Amino acid sequence: MDNCLFCKIARGEIPSRKVYEDDEVFAFHDINPARPVHILVIPKRHITSLATVGDDDAPVLGRMLAVANKLASESGSPDGFRVIINNGRVGGQEVQHLHAHIVGGPEPVGPMLKRV
Ligand code: 5GP
Ligand code: ZN
Repeated sequence: MDNCLFCKIARGEIPSRKVYEDDEVFAFHDINPARPVHILVIPKRHITSLATVGDDDAPVLGRMLAVANKLASESGSPDGFRVIINNGRVGGQEVQHLHAHIVGGPEPVGPMLKRV
């Protein structure tokens, strides 16, 4: 995807504070962190959201979760963390390239969702 922000970040065309990279995924600090630790993990290959994945995407989706604990621990959240994936309009997804937020820090991140 030529014009996708996170594709450009994964290709190094837009700078980011990289924390991890392998052949399938790229991880970097969120530009506007919501917690002391706030990392985004993305597939290098463009996937819009979980609404568009197929069986072939299962390995990269697994990799995104498999690296989360290591990245959180090494970035200052050794006692746990939260993974959030926003999808589509209802999920509040702002960037249309699949990304997992890894949020944490020294203190608990708080309630999961405000109950309605
Ligand atoms: P969403 O709301 O789509 O789940 O989350 C998008 C996230 O991307 C937000 O937390 C936002 O701060 C982050 N973000 C948006 N643009 C950039 C950017 O250019 N660089 C980085 N590092 N993060 C970005
Ligand atoms: Zn993309």
